[in-house]
Amino acid sequence: MDYAPSPFLTAFHNGMILGAIFMAAAGILVYLFHHLRVSTISDYHLKYNYINTKEIQNYKLVYYCFAVAGMLLINLYQMDKMKEVELWFYVRLFMGIAGGTLIGYVAYLILEYYYPTRLDKKLKKWRFMPRINPNNQNKMRLLSEEEEDVHLQEGMIAEENVFSIDYDVWIDEKTGDVLIEKYEGRLQALKCNSCGFYTMRIIREEVTKTPTTDEPGELVKNYQCIYCKSVRATSFNISTKETEDYKKEKFKFRRNKDVELVKIEIHSVSGEKKHFEFQNAELAQKFLSEFDYEKS
Ligand SMILES: [Zn+2]
Repeated sequence: MDYAPSPFLTAFHNGMILGAIFMAAAGILVYLFHHLRVSTISDYHLKYNYINTKEIQNYKLVYYCFAVAGMLLINLYQMDKMKEVELWFYVRLFMGIAGGTLIGYVAYLILEYYYPTRLDKKLKKWRFMPRINPNNQNKMRLLSEEEEDVHLQEGMIAEENVFSIDYDVWIDEKTGDVLIEKYEGRLQALKCNSCGFYTMRIIREEVTKTPTTDEPGELVKNYQCIYCKSVRATSFNISTKETEDYKKEKFKFRRNKDVELVKIEIHSVSGEKKHFEFQNAELAQKFLSEFDYEKS
């Protein structure tokens, strides 16, 4: 005995097919839009900000679309055998909801706890990618000495919710041009030393010592891991320097900043060899200018 399914079931199954196609397409579109957006931001700092604030959010949306598509697809299972609304229809409906929820929840867990580790690598790439001076195309160098100090959002020093910021100062060593980028520390997830995930986030910041014009202040950042809930507190110096101060400041460059050790090997005419080690190029230079083979 073969007869056509009830009009309701036909409409229901068609709706599921169209809905699944639509949701899958929506997920793919969100994914493509996200990457298109990232690739159109040419400024590394803005790219960093966009990825930092939007990537996990957008990926979640992508997977939620897929989860709904999955839920709808499950409702097509054995559709050819179903001729009218029967018990199996409701069982399948329930399985669809459970399946879709499972897909969504697994995606949520991955994006919330596992993915930040990969995101951190991506973010570091854009944060430390050498900046190019727009005036002359010179490669700029990041001042690392400034990194330990944090700054406060203007006027927030007396407030409860201080949000500290980091300044990255890039310098063109040939011309002295300075490029300053602000990073909000609270938006960044750090590595948790207990569980190893990049899920440590700032929950509270306190000014423990107010900075004066002569002395830097102190700020304590309280972190908590959203995964294992362990806590950590770290104190930072509050720099009183403002963006403009960095521009005014004349930076003294240590040449060969990345040099850790200078080794010198001196060969005499008689075939003798002598080895010397120095902590930096200046000391080595000074030594060479005073060097006398006979006396040493
Ligand atoms: Zn943890």
